[in-house]
Amino acid sequence: MSDQTPDEPTASRPEAEDAVPGGQVAPTPPDEAERLAELRSMGVLDSGPNPDLDALVDMAALVAGSRIALITLVDEDEQVFKAAYGLDATGTPRDVSFCGHAIASGPDPMVINDSRADPRFADNPLVTGDPHVVFYAGIPLVTGAGHAIGTLCVIDDTPRNLEPRQLEALGRLATQATGLIELGRRHRQARTATDPHTGLTQADARSAGLDAVDAARADRAADSGRGVDGPPLRAGDTARTRTIEADLPGVVDANQLVVHYQPIVRLSSAEWIGAEALVRWHHPELGVVMPDEFIPLAEDLDLIGAIDQHVLRVALHDMAAGRVPGHEIAVNVSPADLVPGLPDVVAAELWDSGVAPAALVVEVTERLRVDQRPEAVQVLRELVDLGVRVAVDDFGAGATSLANLRQMPVSRLKLDRSLVADLDGPDARRAALVVRALAQLSSDLGVEVLGEGVETPRQAEMLISEGVMLGQGFLFGRPAALSVD
Ligand code: C2E
Ligand code: MG
Ligand code: MG
Repeated sequence: MSDQTPDEPTASRPEAEDAVPGGQVAPTPPDEAERLAELRSMGVLDSGPNPDLDALVDMAALVAGSRIALITLVDEDEQVFKAAYGLDATGTPRDVSFCGHAIASGPDPMVINDSRADPRFADNPLVTGDPHVVFYAGIPLVTGAGHAIGTLCVIDDTPRNLEPRQLEALGRLATQATGLIELGRRHRQARTATDPHTGLTQADARSAGLDAVDAARADRAADSGRGVDGPPLRAGDTARTRTIEADLPGVVDANQLVVHYQPIVRLSSAEWIGAEALVRWHHPELGVVMPDEFIPLAEDLDLIGAIDQHVLRVALHDMAAGRVPGHEIAVNVSPADLVPGLPDVVAAELWDSGVAPAALVVEVTERLRVDQRPEAVQVLRELVDLGVRVAVDDFGAGATSLANLRQMPVSRLKLDRSLVADLDGPDARRAALVVRALAQLSSDLGVEVLGEGVETPRQAEMLISEGVMLGQGFLFGRPAALSVD
């Protein structure tokens, strides 16, 4: 990276369209000195990975259906890949960069359908060699002050084009990316400013506050006999695990599973549109065992298929009998359930119950790594062919979410409750930007978005204002058993 100060002139760069080995160098933007000053003031060039920007490039690749998506920052001599999907590199010299051209010709997107037929790029080593940039679309990241600091770009190794709505969606993503980068600068400025009364920076004050929160968490954990992060740490814990393991194989036959239902609502009206089935195990000695405690074990012991089929059957029959409010029923299936026999099982259960396929939503957690389970995607496609809808559960809880999503026939995203909780936490503005980006793009793609774990009216309001239409959470109703009449 250059150590030149922002104010120094950049006379060393060729002026315009000079021939260089491997193509033509981009013209220098007229605001080059101010642009570089702005870029360096952002502190993003060496601030390390940013998960929010990573999520945006994943989404860009999804929207464009492209092999590669990048957020690039065009510095004086090099372009830095701030976030990359599908390319394992940190940057290139500026002289060969496509993005240098894009920022100079901006603010409109620069789309090169076939770089091999374009004299500016035909001999470029990025075209003739890896990664074979044949198709390129770059949207300049234009700051509030009007300087293009880099691009959001998508790349493929074959000639192609983009639909106008794809380009529009990429434009929105680029705006979100610039917003996140600018927000980062404001945060850093605020964190390093000192409080006149205490002499502390916000960062100092925050870490002191976090220490206090950690201490309180540890105290609560000790009081309740739980570990801070792990499973319950009670005396007799191993005996409990042994009992669960021993009794789990007989759980369906012993009729000890109880299905609870939690309402799914339209946020604007709080109207119940349906419910999610959530299983509980009423164990004769242990009492109610929650799914987080026994579902992972059932997956390990290969018992999950029978449990999930039971829950599906009960939920469909409750739905058919009009005992579940609303017009749709959502059930969870574990990644291990996505085997070739599942569509037949689902079809048979739908037939038996008389519930229409369109009323069933199958929730697949984003723990499913579709890249490692291509047959699982085929199973999901067959479910969709039946008329069943697929939702991705706990979306945003893991790093691979968007990459996963590209390959799945999805009609609903359930935003993980950690994302929803952040909406009225200390980083609310940033969380709102992420939620807004996801909601906008999902709506462009015809995918519904639902906020999970809505506990406060503020979270519900924020979700609505960011474009999320559906919600679920304690605010609207806890999971509950059907009342016995
Ligand atoms: P999930 O599918 O994401 O279900 C939502 C979980 O969040 C439920 O936990 C629900 O009680 C909880 N929840 C709902 N609203 C709120 C809220 O406002 N605040 C908070 N803090 N929590 C809320 P639950 O019932 O303990 O289920 C945990 C997980 O177990 C489920 O997460 C799902 O992944 C799995 N699971 C539940 N039933 C089944 C099942 O029949 N089959 C399979 N394979 N997995 C199941
Ligand atoms: Mg679920
Ligand atoms: Mg969830």
